[in-house]
Amino acid sequence: MEVVPALTFDQARDCVLAQLARYAVLPAVEHTRLEDSLGRVLAEPIAADRDYPPLPRAMRDGFAVRSSDVPGTLRVVGEVRAGRRLDRPLAAGEAVEIMTGAPAPPGADAVIMVEHTTREGDRITLPAASAGANINARGVEARMGDVILPAGRRLGYVELAALAATGHAHLAVYRRPEVAILSTGDELVGIEETPREEQIRNSNAYSLAAQVTRAGGRPLLLPVARDDWDSTYSLIARGLASDLLLLSGGVSAGKYDIVERVLAGFGAEFFFDRVAIQPGQPLVFGRAQNRFLFGLPGNPTSTMVTFELFARAAVVALSGAPFSALPLHHARLRQPFRHKPGLTRFLPARLSDRGGWIEPVPWRGSGDVAALTRANAFLVASASRESWDEGEWIPVLQR
Ligand code: AMP
Ligand code: MG
Repeated sequence: MEVVPALTFDQARDCVLAQLARYAVLPAVEHTRLEDSLGRVLAEPIAADRDYPPLPRAMRDGFAVRSSDVPGTLRVVGEVRAGRRLDRPLAAGEAVEIMTGAPAPPGADAVIMVEHTTREGDRITLPAASAGANINARGVEARMGDVILPAGRRLGYVELAALAATGHAHLAVYRRPEVAILSTGDELVGIEETPREEQIRNSNAYSLAAQVTRAGGRPLLLPVARDDWDSTYSLIARGLASDLLLLSGGVSAGKYDIVERVLAGFGAEFFFDRVAIQPGQPLVFGRAQNRFLFGLPGNPTSTMVTFELFARAAVVALSGAPFSALPLHHARLRQPFRHKPGLTRFLPARLSDRGGWIEPVPWRGSGDVAALTRANAFLVASASRESWDEGEWIPVLQR
């Protein structure tokens, strides 16, 4: 077979992002209730419906005063609890007992924390306070009409709070892209079946469906394609009716790895078909019939890792959300680490609960799902470096 130079990890990732940007189209819009909107992508900008706060608001339990009156002893002339208001202006020498969240009465420009005061009957002795202390003036958090959530924002718990606070019980969101999942392989049987010893259960369909769902897509599981032209061709034709097609298996150099050839039969354009990474070297990214497609290598670890590294970005882009970065951070190696440079490796590793330490988990290659269940992250070993000392920082991909 023709030897095509593999892209580096960074080149391949840049290629995917560039192609996604080049063919970007916004998905259709649908409506949902706020309580059903977690993980959806906003299709409209959300503006503040009034000033936040709408009145100057006490940030602490204490006493509302005129800052020019303190330090000193003032007369307590009333109380404001959260949910009430006091419209009588504060006169010189007066203080009002106030609770967190309650509106400061007119004239008050500071709230002094109750812990810092001494009370005797209606007399309260207070320390100095500067103007504005413990009060949020009207509109300092957001002005009425300010956009607080842009279209394209993926909704998490923070966004749900902002939507609830601004009274958005119903909202416009983008339709989730349908992502066809096509597993290939003569050896695959369904998960309800008992495989013969030479067979395996189709686990990739389920890991991919979970990854697609988590990325904001709707997985569509197609029947397994057998390693022959007709079966693979007719199922790819079905998969190309979805917004995105993910294939697993059939993209390496084996005699029955026919996925690329069959895709070529659909006039597919291939952006790359090899990446210098492990797991996942044979990896196809292309486009056919106006749809992006990924031919992911079939070994379960390779399928999972290459989805996260490349295909996830496509699901996110087709969801109408702006590009989201890989969840990379750094941790310190608990033991020295070395690998053979040339490939960027994503190796199952265990990140400690406390203190950001990482150690690789013994792993018997890309088919070893059991090792993955003992890992909670992937250690990222740069292609251009051979060894790391104990205690050195190394990039980590969260899983
Ligand atoms: P392939 O990429 O087709 O050469 O497959 C590589 C390895 O992954 C082989 O050992 C396959 O049996 C295994 N494999 C392929 N597809 C799946 C799948 N859907 N679920 C689990 N393992 C798979
Ligand atoms: Mg195969």
